[in-house]
Amino acid sequence: MNNPETMALRCAACGRTHALDELAWRCADCHGVLDLTGFTPVMPKAADLATRRPGLWRYAEALPIAEPPGITMGEGMTPLVTAPGQPGVGLKIDYLMPTGSFKDRGAVMLAALAARLGVTRLMADSSGNAGTSVAAYAARAGIACDVYVPESTSAGKVAQLRAYGATVHQIPGTREDTAHAAARAADEPGVFYASHVYHPFFLHGTKTYVLELWEQLEGRLPDTLVLPVGNGTLVLGAYLGCAELLDQGLIDRLPRIVAVQASGCAPLATAFADGRPEPADITTHGTVAEGIAIAAPARGRQILAAVRATGGIIVTVTDEQVHAAHAALARSGLYVEPTSAVCWAAIRADLVDTTPRPDGLPAVVAPLCGSGLKSKPPA
Ligand SMILES: *Cc1c(COP(=O)(O)O)cnc(C)c1O
Ligand SMILES: [Zn+2]
Repeated sequence: MNNPETMALRCAACGRTHALDELAWRCADCHGVLDLTGFTPVMPKAADLATRRPGLWRYAEALPIAEPPGITMGEGMTPLVTAPGQPGVGLKIDYLMPTGSFKDRGAVMLAALAARLGVTRLMADSSGNAGTSVAAYAARAGIACDVYVPESTSAGKVAQLRAYGATVHQIPGTREDTAHAAARAADEPGVFYASHVYHPFFLHGTKTYVLELWEQLEGRLPDTLVLPVGNGTLVLGAYLGCAELLDQGLIDRLPRIVAVQASGCAPLATAFADGRPEPADITTHGTVAEGIAIAAPARGRQILAAVRATGGIIVTVTDEQVHAAHAALARSGLYVEPTSAVCWAAIRADLVDTTPRPDGLPAVVAPLCGSGLKSKPPA
């Protein structure tokens, strides 16, 4: 079942497969992104779930790797609360994760795989929540961790990475220069690139967002999932979770995915509006939602296809709307980082149909996926 020895990574563009222990992070032939094959996820039965501890490892048969003792920090099974003044909307509180963001769902899968493959060093290249999360789980696993960040990364974030024991490489120049330095390092033999963007194990971790929701709503899903989108790790994970539940006959249709971008950096919303299959070439104008300011998402084609397959849409919100949504959430006791207010901004702007359902289930669920405690104080 969840035995990594039978699995492989398959190029989404040309179909070439790579064994997991080749440590490929993209296709060796065409540089396409890799997906996981050779694995049949099975959602556990309700009777089995009733006897299991809270946390994402309760879905063991649906995950590509077994619970790594000594590495897990109890991640998963975050609360679902009713949104302030919106009875038809649920908010899933993913900022209550060990490192304060939903990235722990994916990072724990990568750390478990790295431990299983016996790697002694891994690397990551994000200065945001993904880098923090990978560094924390690498520390748990006792695996050395190198993190590549732009030189402009705040001292606080560098200090946090170092506190976890990571070696921080500060790269001069642009965000793209950092990406190039990371890609060069990732191509060295024997390096495990624990990339939230490229490694498909990460998406099999983030899919637990939907598996939990399905269980919390007693075997159903809301009509609409509102999700932030930059690199698409939550959108693609959520889509994967929904598709797996549909395949197993556990839901009868996919919920609509409404993905939210910041208007200052919206390659996916632009492509969606133009009916194109690939992210648009854009120039970033900067945004307060820095966690989703991704100009060229590597899995952009997959994100656009996933949202379209659900009958969904990709919308944008302005910085002004994000500021207002952030303040409104805090006034109701929910303190998130500004990026995590984009979904609430879209709901407040009536970009999402929130009409309550007759059966009392939330019509719409959005995540609050990054803690305010780690973000810069508002200007
Ligand atoms: C990573 C992150 C996002 C965006 O996720 P993508 O995978 O880039 O789409 C949104 N909000 C928070 C708090 C994040 O950490
Ligand atoms: Zn390929």
